[in-house]
Amino acid sequence: MYQIGILNGTVIDGSGNKPYRANVFIEKDRIAAISEEVFPACKVVDASGLIVAPGFIDIHTHSDSSPYAAPGFESYIHQGVTTTINGNCGGSFVPHDLAKHAEKVQSSFGSRFEDGKLPEVRATDVASYVEEVTGRCANNNGMLVGHGALREMCMANPKAEKPAPEELEAMKAVLRRELEAGAFGLSMGLIYVPGVYSRTEELIELAKVVAEYGAILPIHMRSEAEHVFEAVDEVGRIARESGAHVHISHFKIMSKLHWGEADRLLAQVDSFKKEGIHISFDQYPFLASATSLNSCLPAWVRKMSREEQLKFLADPKRYEEAIPEIEEDAHYIIGPDKVLVSSTQGTAPQYDGRFLSEIAEMMQVPPMEAYRQLMLTTELRARGIFFSMDREDALKIARRLDVSVISDSTAMDFINGKVNGVPHPRTGNSFVRFLRINREEKLMPLEKAVYKMTGLPASQMQIQGRGLIREGFFADITIFDADTVGDNGSFTKPLVKASGISQVILNGQTVWENGGPTGVKSGMGLIRARR
Ligand SMILES: [Zn+2]
Repeated sequence: MYQIGILNGTVIDGSGNKPYRANVFIEKDRIAAISEEVFPACKVVDASGLIVAPGFIDIHTHSDSSPYAAPGFESYIHQGVTTTINGNCGGSFVPHDLAKHAEKVQSSFGSRFEDGKLPEVRATDVASYVEEVTGRCANNNGMLVGHGALREMCMANPKAEKPAPEELEAMKAVLRRELEAGAFGLSMGLIYVPGVYSRTEELIELAKVVAEYGAILPIHMRSEAEHVFEAVDEVGRIARESGAHVHISHFKIMSKLHWGEADRLLAQVDSFKKEGIHISFDQYPFLASATSLNSCLPAWVRKMSREEQLKFLADPKRYEEAIPEIEEDAHYIIGPDKVLVSSTQGTAPQYDGRFLSEIAEMMQVPPMEAYRQLMLTTELRARGIFFSMDREDALKIARRLDVSVISDSTAMDFINGKVNGVPHPRTGNSFVRFLRINREEKLMPLEKAVYKMTGLPASQMQIQGRGLIREGFFADITIFDADTVGDNGSFTKPLVKASGISQVILNGQTVWENGGPTGVKSGMGLIRARR
């Protein structure tokens, strides 16, 4: 007698192969049988007219603290996501040296909790994180090591341009330890502090360690806007000189200057492939990006300490110097009516969900002055959404079968928990939205679209035993209606339940059914497949 029998469904197995009719049987946490025959099962799920697919895999998230802050992972499971890879863009919760960085860890991850404080978290490295999150939340969680976290741990001055030789050796040693423990790779965030200070030579040295382990190197490039082509060249150089598998995170063209140049960009990365470079990509299905609102500030301002930046902004005379550069910044050049303030992190809720042009009207000042005041009021904490991409470019990238679907976001409990501000809708809609766009725009057969959310990301990250419907694989399963699956969230009301997701099973236990979460927390901490 099997635990669960999913009968009469159409299996899309995650490999990209054609759909087929079969019954799927689950025993403990595994797929035990796939058969045309019907075997007895304790719980029978009738999947007539529905698709039975592997649970979706999101390899680009910032949900590091979600197992603690939003253990229901509701914004993920309502759209069929069962696996999350955290620690992207150079910033990872672990590893850290709690003795040295308690305050830093607190300020980066604490704001999500009711009292602004992280609960007691013992995890300080990948091994302890994986152990601690197992059975704690409703998603599987794996971790990348953030380059920024390595700098914080190993450099006396993490904002220095060059690590001292012994500091670089220390970073490599910690990276080795974490890859041994099952980290999925090393992530870089080359526009963020402290990654923004680093030179390519340092990145190559660390990439060599990634290559030793055959792991992945996801990179948030130095530019996705006016210098995107140079930034892609840097990725190519890192791969060439280290031998590492490089991966461009949230692949896009963000500058009006280069709109319509997707073909040129794709030709550039394809030329790397011809050279023998192992390169892959991910993308979220939206034409707007989201990041800290202070990303509009010139690099020379962002390189200052937080206090210095606030001092700088408090002096209108000095601020004037920066205005021409802000106005030309890729985030801002689209205009104040295309820059949405998504969250002031509780500091000025009257501005949450409003465009900068509206806020300027509310304040009765020019947009640049509104921006200055907003940065000051929120102490640089405001988050922004930037409508900065071209539709045709985005669709050209979306059609590729080496580009995974991702959310680039943080899991939230929007049904039974707390949500700060108005997050980018990619948080709770990316996967179902991609399925809807695919249906409406006829981008590719459904099995290929499912592949981009299951088998492909599993192979890019080397996630073992997941991403396919196969006997012996973990029973992470999403059952959905191909004709109705879709997103309902918008930029002003981002977190709304998805349509067409019938049931989600995580490690053999049902976490979503009858339009709601079951409360079961059967997620596991994941480690990378050993070679
Ligand atoms: Zn990023």
